[in-house]
Amino acid sequence: MISRRSFLRVSALAGAVAASGASCAAGASGAAARVSGAAGPRPADWSALGRGLAGTLIRPGDASYDNARRVFNSAFDSVRPAGVAYCSTAADVSECLAFARKFKVPVTSRSGGHSYAGWSTGTGLVVDVSPMSKVSYSGGHATVGAGARLVDVYAKLAAHGVSIPAGSCPTVGVAGLTLGGGIGVVSRQYGLTCDVLESLKVVTADGKTLTCSPTSHPDLYWASRGGGGGNFGVATSFTFRTHQTRSVTLFFLHWPWSKAAAVLKAWQSWAPSAPDALWSNCHLNHDPSLDVMVGGLYLGGRTACENLLQKLVDRIGSGPSSRYVATSAYDHAMMVEAGCASSSVAQCHRPGTLPGQNPGGKLVRDSFSAKSHFAYTPLTSAGIKALLAQVAAPGRHSVLLDALGGAVARVRPDATAFPHRKALFGVQYYAHFGGAAGWARTAHAAMRPYLGDHAYVNYADPELKNWRQQYYGANAARLAQVKAAYDPGRLFRLPQGV
Ligand SMILES: Cc1cc2nc3c(=O)[nH]c(=O)nc-3n(C[C@H](O)[C@H](O)[C@H](O)COP(=O)(O)OP(=O)(O)OC[C@H]3O[C@@H](n4cnc5c(N)ncnc54)[C@H](O)[C@@H]3O)c2cc1C
Repeated sequence: MISRRSFLRVSALAGAVAASGASCAAGASGAAARVSGAAGPRPADWSALGRGLAGTLIRPGDASYDNARRVFNSAFDSVRPAGVAYCSTAADVSECLAFARKFKVPVTSRSGGHSYAGWSTGTGLVVDVSPMSKVSYSGGHATVGAGARLVDVYAKLAAHGVSIPAGSCPTVGVAGLTLGGGIGVVSRQYGLTCDVLESLKVVTADGKTLTCSPTSHPDLYWASRGGGGGNFGVATSFTFRTHQTRSVTLFFLHWPWSKAAAVLKAWQSWAPSAPDALWSNCHLNHDPSLDVMVGGLYLGGRTACENLLQKLVDRIGSGPSSRYVATSAYDHAMMVEAGCASSSVAQCHRPGTLPGQNPGGKLVRDSFSAKSHFAYTPLTSAGIKALLAQVAAPGRHSVLLDALGGAVARVRPDATAFPHRKALFGVQYYAHFGGAAGWARTAHAAMRPYLGDHAYVNYADPELKNWRQQYYGANAARLAQVKAAYDPGRLFRLPQGV
C-alpha cells in the first residue's frame, strides 16, 4: 500500500490538510443540516430525491454510508452528511440543487474529496460527481467528466499518446484541481491545468447547465480557471487542449543535511529559470531523519537532463550523496510521480465499489496538516536559515518547494482567476501525526517575514485571515462580481467563499 508519506518521497507537489477536527466542524462541513426556521425534508422527500436520480442517493443507515461519506483526509471522518448523491448526469445535479433550494439544505460539491479543509463534505447534501468520469479524446481535445481521478485521466489519454498538465496525486479529482488552477510536473512546459481548459459545463444555482468558454459565459469561464471549486456551480465536464506525450527523464538527487543551505540557495535560482522542459522540486525532509532532495522530470533525454543537473551541482559546489536519473515512458513517469511506480492503474485507487473507487485499489487515506506560501522572490540567506531551522525542529515534517516559472509565468495574472503567475515557487509546510498542526502553524508564521502573504486556493487554509488577497490578489473583485451574477442567493457557501 502506498502511504501519503511514501507518496511524498517521490512527489512533492502533493498537499496537506490545514485543519484539525475542530476547524472541520467550523467549515461548510459544520453548517446546520438545514437553515434555521425552514421546513426540512422528511424521509419521504429524501426517498423521492433518490428515486428521481439516474445515480444513487446514499443515506445514513445504508450499508455503504460510512464509505460514501469519508473524504481523503480522515481528520474529517466525524462529518455525517444527510445524504450523498452520486450524480450520473447534469440533470441529477440539477435535481439535487432544486432539492437543496426547496428545503434549504446546505449543498456541497465533491469530486475527488481531497479538499485540505474538508470542504467537500458537510452535514447537508453532498453532490458527488464521481459517476461522471468518462474520458474521451478527439483531434487534440480531451473531454473529461468532472468526477474523473487524475490517474484515470493520465491512463486513458496515454492510450491516445496525449496528456494534459495536471497534478501528481492519483486520486485527486479533475474538478477540484482544475477549478483552483492545477500545478503539475509538466506545468513549466504546458501551463496549469486551467490554462489548457477550453470549455466546461457547469450546473448553476438555478439548475441550468451552462457551457462556459471564451465566447459563452466568458466571466464564468474565467472564474472557473483558478477561482476555486465550490463557489460558482457544480462542474460536470471539462474540455482540455492536449499535448503529445514523449519519453521523459526522471531524477531524484539527495544531499546530506549539512549541505541543505547550499542546495536550497542554488535550487531557488536554478529551478524557476531552467528551460521549460525541466520541472523540479526541493524537498526538505525531517521524517524521520533530516534529508534534502531535488527531484523532478525533464521532457527530453537523459544526456540533456544530466547537463542541466550538472549546472545545479556546480552551483551547490558538491555532488549528491545519492542520485537516480533514468528515462521513462510518459505514462509510467506519471505513475512514479503518483507514488504508484510498482502498481497497476486499478491498484492506484482507493479500494471499494463506490464511484471513484476500484475493487483492486490499494491506496489508503491519510491524516495530515499543512500550510503554504508562494515565493515571489528568492529567499535571502536569513530566510534560508529560518526555513532550515523550522525543518530541523523536533517532530516529523517536511517542507516542499515546487518550481514555477516557464509557461505558468507567461500568462497574465488577470488572464485567469489564478493570480500567482510571477511566483518563483510554491512552498508547503507539511506534517503528520499529533501536534502536526502546531508545527505547520509555527513554520508558516516564521516564514511570513521572508515570503509574505500569498497562498494557493487549492491548498485551502481555514486559518488564513486575509484569504481573499492571498488566494486571488487583484482578481478578488472580479470573482465577487461573477459570484453575484451566477449565484446571487449564495446557494454555494464555503467558509472562504468568494
Ligand atoms: C494528496 C494530495 C495531493 C495533491 N497534489 C496536488 C498537485 O499535484 N497539484 C495541485 O495543484 N494540487 C494538488 N493538491 C491539491 C488539490 O488540487 C486540491 O485539494 C483540489 O481541490 C482537490 O480536488 P478534488 O476534486 O480531489 O477535491 P474535492 O474535495 O472533491 O473538491 C475540492 C473543492 O472543489 C469543490 N468541488 C468539487 N467538485 C466540484 C465540482 N464538480 N464543481 C464545483 N466545485 C467542485 C469542492 O466543494 C471543494 O470545495 C493535492 C491535494 C492532496 C490532498
